[in-house]
Formats: sequence, C-alpha cells, structure tokens
Amino acid sequence: MEFSEQGSKNDILYWSKRLYQKEMSPSTSGNVSLKTSEGILITASGVCLNDMNEDDIVLIDYNGNLKSGNKKPSSEKIMHTEIYMRRDDINAIIHCHCPLITAFCVAGKSIKAPILPDFALMYDEIPLIPYFCPSTIQLADAVGNCFDLGNNVALLQNHGVVLGADTLQNAFYQLESIRAYVQTYFGAEVISCAKPLNKKQVAEIRQLYIKK
Ligand SMILES: [Zn+2]
Repeated sequence: MEFSEQGSKNDILYWSKRLYQKEMSPSTSGNVSLKTSEGILITASGVCLNDMNEDDIVLIDYNGNLKSGNKKPSSEKIMHTEIYMRRDDINAIIHCHCPLITAFCVAGKSIKAPILPDFALMYDEIPLIPYFCPSTIQLADAVGNCFDLGNNVALLQNHGVVLGADTLQNAFYQLESIRAYVQTYFGAEVISCAKPLNKKQVAEIRQLYIKK
C-alpha cells in the first residue's frame, strides 16, 4: 500500500503508541521507521514512542542524512538504513528494548525452542547477534549481515530486538507474537519446564500450512 507522507507519519504514530502501551518499548527507548518514495521516515532521537507528535518523525536518506524535519533522527538510523539497503522486501522496521524479549538477549540465548505451533511455522530460530555498542556502524553491519541471510528479526546481545516486515502493522504483530512466546516460555519454566514440540510435530504443522 502506498501511503502519502502524512499517512505514513500517522501509521508510525499509531503503531509506536501501541508498542509503548503494550510495554514493548519503555521510556524513551526504541525507534520505528517506514520506507517511502522520498526516503525513510524515522522517529527522532530521545522521544517516548507514546508521547510523540508528527514533528518527532523526520525524513532521512539512505545514508542517514536528514532530508526534512527539525529533530535529530534516531541514533540507530544506520541500523535501519542498512537493513533497507540490503532487503528490498522490507518496508517497515521496529527496534525496541522489550524487557521480556531482551531477557533472552541478556541471558545470551537465541530463541529457538518450538514450544508453540505458530512459532514453529514462522521460525527455526531467532538468532542472537553478539554485542556491539549501540548506534555504531559495527552494530548496523552485523544486523545487516544477519538480515542478508534471510532473517527478518534479530536479537541484539545485551540490548534489544530489531524486526523488519512489509508493513508496520505486520512488524508489530510479529513482535507481539514473539513477546507472547517469551511470556509463555517463562511461565512454563516457572511451573516446571518448557517442553518443545518434537521434529515430527513441527514437520506436521509446517506441512499443513503448505497445503493451505
Ligand atoms: Zn536500542
């Protein structure tokens, strides 16, 4: 769907608020972007995703240079541009420090146990990228390399998560599903232990999905 710049800003404002309100992007952390015909609309540096207005969304080019707007773009702008430059199929990116998902990043673990059929359908594994200082070219490059391999989501060691999709709505829903997975996983571990589906069960659900 082609949005006007105003429509794209409204889209960013709507889904950014949902991210904050669902406790996936606390305080002033997190950033959201959307590809447009003019460049990349991205949230400004240091803003709370719940309290933004359209002036807190700026337009940058693929080198991260400001094209329009009066605010400083998110310090993670090069992570966003790097993904867009490498993946034509990605139009929207969310980066956040969702506490539940980030717990995996801090524990130094990728997410891979297929404990739920919907997870088994979507992912073999959500990879973990080693720690790089936030906002650096090294981090952007490592994320770009991970997306080059076909991943649409990556965990960042001791930092957070970044996810790309065709639309912001789909990016939000996928992130929300991962957060729900993590909540379920933690709950199961508290009760006893999370028991994953076996290989046959994973193959069965994937086969069913392919037939549809
Ligand atoms: Zn971050």
